[in-house]
Amino acid sequence: MNDAPVIGPVTGPANGPSTGPVPKPWIDAIEAYVPGKSAGADGRPLVKLSANENPLGTGAAALAARAQAQDASLYPDPGSTALRAALGTRHGIDPARIVMGTGSDELLNLVAQGYAGPGDAVLFARYSFAVYDIAARRCGAEPVVVPDSDYGADVDAMLAAVTPRTRVVFLANPNNPTGTYLPRAALARLHAGLPADVVLVIDQAYAEYVEAADDDGGLALAAAHANVLVTRTFSKIHGLAGERIGWATGAPGLVATLNRIRGPFNVTATGQAMALAAVGDDAFVERSRRHNRAERARFAAAIDALGNHGLRAVPSEANFLLVLFEGALSAEAAYEGLAQRGTIVRWLPNQGLPHALRITIGTAPQMDAIAAALGEMAEAAR
Ligand SMILES: *Cc1c(COP(=O)(O)O)cnc(C)c1O
Repeated sequence: MNDAPVIGPVTGPANGPSTGPVPKPWIDAIEAYVPGKSAGADGRPLVKLSANENPLGTGAAALAARAQAQDASLYPDPGSTALRAALGTRHGIDPARIVMGTGSDELLNLVAQGYAGPGDAVLFARYSFAVYDIAARRCGAEPVVVPDSDYGADVDAMLAAVTPRTRVVFLANPNNPTGTYLPRAALARLHAGLPADVVLVIDQAYAEYVEAADDDGGLALAAAHANVLVTRTFSKIHGLAGERIGWATGAPGLVATLNRIRGPFNVTATGQAMALAAVGDDAFVERSRRHNRAERARFAAAIDALGNHGLRAVPSEANFLLVLFEGALSAEAAYEGLAQRGTIVRWLPNQGLPHALRITIGTAPQMDAIAAALGEMAEAAR
């Protein structure tokens, strides 16, 4: 057509006015999530202790279920019916109050989208999960970062930050990347202080690592109140991160909102089958929890022993430790040194933690090697 616009090279904002599609400004402002690395700069595979995956792998029951999974030419059950029924039985929840997601990640994004938008505020503590900032910005809401208290969530500061614009509050409990944990009474106080029309999202990705006696009461709050959503995942203790399966529970209104906007076939057939088997595999969960408890304590003691070099571990209820470097050895140098020795951990300058490394609890030999390497490097840096 003669009057069709001339199509020339698309120029970005740096080169003058754009003639191509322009993203929404709040989308353009998002800094993409940086996943944990698994290879060195030269492409050499490294021991990956950067993404809080289960060092014991995936349970035998889930692996057996994968071998039996349904015909891949068929769509999966859109309601994940069997899986929700099993979760309901396991946790004493009406399955109608459970919604599955493509990882809990999808659900965190959906709850923000469902309840917040331009002009609204989404609250979370400083040093919490990087997805919250993205989830807030994605729907055009303002992310509001609340000051921490010694790397953990500060209930009083969170409540003080609430305004009439606040629609959603995210709390990871235990928290990533710090491992800190809000006990039951503090969590109840946070909920009690929030207006009834603010959604409190309790992200329990690491709940299974917490001792039973220390249960934060999140599921009970979600069962009792219209404005509490708990999210859980199969990615961590169940060793199914590659399958992308998460779930959320809360009042029927919250679940209905998420069901309206989730992908209709958001959990694959293989994922549903493997997760169903994993729900029943208490032995694997218990073995993973025990391994984590023992190795985390041993690694924390090794870091303690380097206290004279300025190393300090933030007390953790999760499957990782945040190690602070406050002496001659910097977190960046330790990160590079560990990578040279074959292990990749998480250095978090983008999250305001240039002085810290988040180290996933791996196998005993892996943790011994890291502790020894940190000792050597700290000694050399004096
Ligand atoms: C790992 C993690 C998740 C899990 O994400 P998935 O999408 O379920 O894999 C959620 N929240 C926090 C705080 C996490 O660290």
